[in-house]
Amino acid sequence: MILYVILRDNQGFHRELAVFLGKQFVDHFLHLMDSCDYTTVKMLWIWNRMSKRQYRSEIHQAALEIDLFGNEHENFTENLENLMSTTQESLCTNRDCPGRFQKVKKTTINISPPHELPHKDPIQSAVDEFFCPKLLLCLERGCDGLRDFCQRVFCHGPPPFVIFNMQQWRSEDLSYVPYHLAICRHRYLLEGATLFNKKEHHYSAAFQIDGCWMHYDGLRSDNLILLHKPPELLLLSSLVYIRASDK
Ligand SMILES: [Zn+2]
Repeated sequence: MILYVILRDNQGFHRELAVFLGKQFVDHFLHLMDSCDYTTVKMLWIWNRMSKRQYRSEIHQAALEIDLFGNEHENFTENLENLMSTTQESLCTNRDCPGRFQKVKKTTINISPPHELPHKDPIQSAVDEFFCPKLLLCLERGCDGLRDFCQRVFCHGPPPFVIFNMQQWRSEDLSYVPYHLAICRHRYLLEGATLFNKKEHHYSAAFQIDGCWMHYDGLRSDNLILLHKPPELLLLSSLVYIRASDK
């Protein structure tokens, strides 16, 4: 649902997303969502995942699990993994280090809450921490050097939208969620969030349309509710930010 809102509001993103998901997929997805055919949309996601991954080998085919009522957060992020992939290079100061040069790729953005209260907004600080260069103790076996990490970069340039996995955050750390974020020198705007209902063990989504906050819950018959303020982010699962236009 959040993806649909993003694509409907930002026609320019269609082409960018088609590079990762295929033009046909994007067209089908939009057509089905326009027709409110949500079950078929789920089938489309699953079919897409199967053709990409699980069906590649017979073993995987046999072990295939289909979770139709599952985790929207995972469905959303796993299908888009390449879109948001980032890499960070690092070099150990110890010349005898067994893995001196390393280049690590991450496909999701899992930001951690800061250890101590930062001066600025905690989410912006956590994003900066995720991307910034740093010097840490080397974790290679038998090495006591320091590992010098370069700035983390997006593999395919700044994506049209980013999804932050927020599952490590406690609700008290999230009293304030910023509307704007600077990510790799680009401006991003808050578009929505996925929320987790602990009691019902189930995910829903909140997003903005024309400045109004809406809550979408597929399990409710009255599944789209207008909110008068941003949702209480007590059980926040992920945050979605879209790239601001350069204009
Ligand atoms: Zn080392």
